Amino acid sequence: MLGLYVHVPFCSAICNYCNFNRGLFDADLKARYVDALISEITQAGGAGRAGGAGDAADTIFFGGGTPSLLEPDEIARIIEACESSFDLAVDREVTLEANPESVTGARLAAYRRAGVNRISFGVQSFREDELRRLSRLHSADRARAAFQEARAAGFDNVSLDLMMWLPQQRIEQWLESIDAAIALGPEHLSLYMLEVYPNAPLKDDMARAKWSQAPDDDVAAMYLGAMTRLDEAGYGQYEISNVAKQGRRSRHNLKYWTDGEWLGFGCGAHSTRAGVRWKNISSTEDYIDVAGRGSLLSCDIRRLTADEQLGDALFTGLRLVDGIDANAIQTRYGVDVWGRFGPDLEPFLEAGCLRRDGSRLSLTRQGMLLAHEVMSVFV
Ligand code: SF4
Repeated sequence: MLGLYVHVPFCSAICNYCNFNRGLFDADLKARYVDALISEITQAGGAGRAGGAGDAADTIFFGGGTPSLLEPDEIARIIEACESSFDLAVDREVTLEANPESVTGARLAAYRRAGVNRISFGVQSFREDELRRLSRLHSADRARAAFQEARAAGFDNVSLDLMMWLPQQRIEQWLESIDAAIALGPEHLSLYMLEVYPNAPLKDDMARAKWSQAPDDDVAAMYLGAMTRLDEAGYGQYEISNVAKQGRRSRHNLKYWTDGEWLGFGCGAHSTRAGVRWKNISSTEDYIDVAGRGSLLSCDIRRLTADEQLGDALFTGLRLVDGIDANAIQTRYGVDVWGRFGPDLEPFLEAGCLRRDGSRLSLTRQGMLLAHEVMSVFV
C-alpha cells in the first residue's frame, strides 16, 4: 500500500541548525498553501498522475517544517482530500509532527477529532541548556506538558524525537534525556545525530561560544548506552535510529526502508513509485502558483535503473534490525546478493559488523556505528 507524505514548510522561528525545506510562518501564505495541497492531492488521486483514482494507501504523514502550525480544520480538510482521492485503509496510521510549544490540550484534541492518530513531538532534548543552544522555542517542561496533553486528548501512539551529539553534550547529559523520555513512556522514539552544516548559524554560534561536540568514541558510547537503556525499558530497536514498543513501529517510515512506495505532496516533497522517483518544486510560492494552475509540480522526474533500485533496496533495508532477505532480493531483482557482493561484505562479517543468518543479512549493533561504510558496498 502507498504511504502519503504531506509537507508543511512553516515554522514559528528558524532553528540555528536546520537544513530542512521550511520558512517563517505567514497566515496568508499558509491558507493558500493548504488550498494548493488539496488541489495537488485531488489531482494525484483523481487524474491518475500517480496511478489513477482509488489507489490504496494506509498511512498519512504530516512532516515539516512544523505541521502543528496548521489549524485542526486545515488538517481535517487535507485528510478528507486524501480520503476522497485514495482508497484509505480503515486502520490507517495518520501522523502529525508537532513542536511542543505549538500545541495545547484543546488543539491536540481537535487534531484527534480531525483523524490524526499518532503524534510525533520534536523534543530534541530534555535539558534547558541544550535546547537554548539549539535555539529551540520550547522548554523541557513544555515538552513534558505537551506529551501529557496528547495523552489526555486520547493519543495512545506518541513518538518523541531526540538529538544526540549536541554542542557541549557529553554522555551523561545525553543519557539524562533518554531517561527523561523513558520516564514519560512514549510508544516510539527516534534518535538522531546532530549534523552541523557548513552554512548553519549554529556553526558560528559554536565558534563564538567555544562550544564543542563530544569526541567520536563518546558518540559511540552515547548511541550504545541509549540503546541499552531503551532495551531494558522494553523498547525494541527496529531501525538504526528508531525504537518502538510492541506493535508501534512507524508504518509510514517503514515504507522508506522496506522498498515500499509513497507519494509526497507539498513543496519539495519526494515520491517513489513503480521504479520512478520525483521531487516537487521546492519554493513554497512557486508550488502554490503551479498547483493553482493545475500544472505538473514535479521538477525532477527520474526512472531508476535496475541497479539503482537494487542498491536502494539493499542500502535502506540494511538500516533495519531485521536486515535484508537475500532470497526476496533474488526473487524481486534476480540478483544473488552473496554472489555479487559477498567478497566485499566478508571483511564486515569477520569484523562483527554484519550478521548472516540463513538468507538474512543484518547489521549488528556495533555495525550500526559503521553503517555508512558497510552500505557503501551496495552503491
Ligand atoms: S522546527 Fe524543525 S523544521 Fe522548523 S526550523 Fe526548527 S528544525 Fe527546522
